[in-house]
Amino acid sequence: MRRKRHLKFQAVLLVLCFFGLLFIFLMPSIFDRASAPPDSYLPETAGTTPDEQAAITPSPSPAATKPPVPPKPVFADAVWMAVGDVMMHTPQLPGAFDKRTNRYNFNPFFAEVKPILAQGDWVIANLETPIAGAEYGFDGYPRFNAPIELGEALKKAGFNLITTANNHSLDQGETGVLRTLKNLRALNIPTKGTAASQEEAEHIVLSEKAGIVMGLLAYTYGTNGIPIPEGKPYLVSLIDEQKIKADISKLRKAGADFITVSLHFGTEYQITPNDEQKRLARALIAAGADIIAGSHPHVVQPYEVVETTDENGHVKKGLIIYSMGNFISNQRGDTKDCGVIFKVNVRKNMTDGTVDLTEIETIPTWVHRYKPDRSYRYRILPIEDTITASNDSLLKKADYDLLQKNYDLLRNRLDSMN
Ligand SMILES: [Zn+2]
Repeated sequence: MRRKRHLKFQAVLLVLCFFGLLFIFLMPSIFDRASAPPDSYLPETAGTTPDEQAAITPSPSPAATKPPVPPKPVFADAVWMAVGDVMMHTPQLPGAFDKRTNRYNFNPFFAEVKPILAQGDWVIANLETPIAGAEYGFDGYPRFNAPIELGEALKKAGFNLITTANNHSLDQGETGVLRTLKNLRALNIPTKGTAASQEEAEHIVLSEKAGIVMGLLAYTYGTNGIPIPEGKPYLVSLIDEQKIKADISKLRKAGADFITVSLHFGTEYQITPNDEQKRLARALIAAGADIIAGSHPHVVQPYEVVETTDENGHVKKGLIIYSMGNFISNQRGDTKDCGVIFKVNVRKNMTDGTVDLTEIETIPTWVHRYKPDRSYRYRILPIEDTITASNDSLLKKADYDLLQKNYDLLRNRLDSMN
């Protein structure tokens, strides 16, 4: 009996040992499963919503947290272009008249520079003549009126912004201003500098290219002694430093990333800017203008790059172009037959909104005037390209010599302030 009881006790002990060992053997795998990372049993969470999955995702330990990486700046680039005075002296008219269509065709003026202008996003010209219509009669100096076809040719050449504030704005009186604006509007070319009403004068001109917004302003020193009609100061924007500064602030508030101020100023036929030109242009850059586009002296003057610091401490370049000379005219000699196309790369940092002028290129031009019959023809030639190609059948050796001489003169003059 004792033996039997003993055996019974042994059997109970064996069963207990078996379960004990089983318990010890299985325990680690139970704990392992409980502490395993969630993705090791994804099938169990497959039926949960993303929110529930996120809720069970353990947050990284503080040691693994990295500082946030600032987003890389994304830059936008667009090309700003401008040229000098677009004039129409009477000798320019007969050779451009097409008897078959009974219209003027000024496209040949711009044909050789059109591929260059096509590289611009903003392409700006100063129209230094009313285009009031044939009924006003076409005339040259001193009271200009050019055919409407000039506006058509400018548009076809690639100009998409025209400034109209200059000393010839009032050459055909108040109606000349109104008719010119109407004719340019019909061509869908935005203008700045003259206006048909106070409201229009206050109208803000913003032009967006590649996500960069340019604001445009334009003023002239005067109107050749022709008084601005009483009570209608809006007709022509005159240079008034405080007004220009206020207009610059207004454009900034309206969303301009950078501002071009076209100024018709300076001394005629002087190849360097006068003190007042320098003072005013620099003051306007300091007040927030980015580019001063100067015209009027009928000859090219130098440009300069000045640095300013904006209200946020960002140091930026300001470009002052004192005079771009004559883009097209009948004036000859002493570089009055020369002009310059400015090509500026405008870069905007899309992260902080700052704008920089990253490349400034000057492309000197020359007006080739020739006489295949009884009237003159005119072509604006890019001087450097023309010399390099040396294959222009309309140019003689003497023309090439003159081109080289003008090129050297202009290149030295343009760069003399930098
Ligand atoms: Zn002028």
